[in-house]
Amino acid sequence: MARRALIVGGGIGGMSCAIALRRIGWSVDLIDIDPTWRALGAGLTLSGPTLRAFKQLGVLDEVKAHGFLSSVGAIASEDGVILGKMPIPELEPGIAGLGGILRPVLHRLLSERVRAVDTVVRLGVSVATLNDDGSAVKATFSDGTTGEYDLVVGADSLNSGVRKLLFGSAYEPRFTGQGCWRLLAPKPADQRGMVMCGTGPRVGFNPVSETHMYMFLTVPDPERRIVPEGEQIGRLRGLLAGFGGFVADIRERMDNSYLVNYRPLEVLLIDGPWHKGRVLLIGDAAHATTPHLGHGAGLAVEDAVVLGEELGRSDDLQEVFDRFMARRLGRARHVIQTSTQISQLELEQRWAEVMTVHAPGAAKLAEAI
Ligand SMILES: Cc1cc2nc3c(=O)[nH]c(=O)nc-3n(C[C@H](O)[C@H](O)[C@H](O)COP(=O)(O)OP(=O)(O)OC[C@H]3O[C@@H](n4cnc5c(N)ncnc54)[C@H](O)[C@@H]3O)c2cc1C
Repeated sequence: MARRALIVGGGIGGMSCAIALRRIGWSVDLIDIDPTWRALGAGLTLSGPTLRAFKQLGVLDEVKAHGFLSSVGAIASEDGVILGKMPIPELEPGIAGLGGILRPVLHRLLSERVRAVDTVVRLGVSVATLNDDGSAVKATFSDGTTGEYDLVVGADSLNSGVRKLLFGSAYEPRFTGQGCWRLLAPKPADQRGMVMCGTGPRVGFNPVSETHMYMFLTVPDPERRIVPEGEQIGRLRGLLAGFGGFVADIRERMDNSYLVNYRPLEVLLIDGPWHKGRVLLIGDAAHATTPHLGHGAGLAVEDAVVLGEELGRSDDLQEVFDRFMARRLGRARHVIQTSTQISQLELEQRWAEVMTVHAPGAAKLAEAI
């Protein structure tokens, strides 16, 4: 009989996990607390290793068709004048070194695949209790129904309810003192990759399609601000005041039709096993990072790929978890430590040092997972 998994959380990690487990013949129930099951926010940078993980998952062609793959990157002055271009080599043949996609588009691609591979999806539902008797986990859901599983995967993000059921309040997100602005804007036709503008605080633009790019800007945020929607455009305009050229054009054109988003940046790492009994955490529930390496979602997809591989190799769940942790913990720690180091350098305005940390940190991600 097929082994049964429950995945709690249908975001990037949970959907990837459903696809990976269905590929090895597990039967999968996936639940998400959001009755509309949608993704908000603007763009997502896809590192080369994230694209590699999508290939391993069997969804790279769709991502390529609906996102944007970069072949060249550029640095520009505050006035938007291109100071230098650099080729972005492929990670390996057929896998670009960098890309971008709209979050809602990635969500649609993954959710269509999740349904196409016969995952049982239930929305507007969460898990209330998990009772693990060693041979199975009995889950009670928020709607009063129950189910019994060989494996439960908590992919319910930074404020994970599954993590609380496993570890209580032992692991809580830590605010970094920074926040991140994102904006979706039309893309100039000749822009073929990421452009970073500025020698001090830098604003980045990464294409997500042939027609659009998203902008990202990290800023100090001593108060962990919640910026009301009506104030977002005005605030962002002020932050972009020192920029000229095409950045100034975007600043002046921005109106309520532009998708603007602000998020305080938090980190979390369970620096030990992400599992207890038959329950495992993946994605931001176990390791949430700032976006400085553009690989937080990549880690979640990789978690799913590695879990699928290890479950395909052994029926012994504890052996699977041990091998999974040996492959995942060091990599997640590297991403979070490097990203928070860059975040701290930005807070201390040590701009020249940022690239000396970023370049080797990103290069290390090319290592096989
Ligand atoms: C500002 C910002 C910019 C970022 N930019 C990038 C980037 O460019 N590239 C990149 O690779 N990463 C980026 N990241 C990181 C990336 O967004 C996350 O690492 C990634 O979304 C984690 O995937 P996940 O599946 O763990 O969580 P999510 O994608 O957040 O999905 C969690 C899902 O769980 C559901 N859920 C929550 N609670 C429950 C519950 N109790 N019961 C059931 N379901 C529940 C939610 O509805 C959601 O669908 C960024 C993060 C931030 C904050």
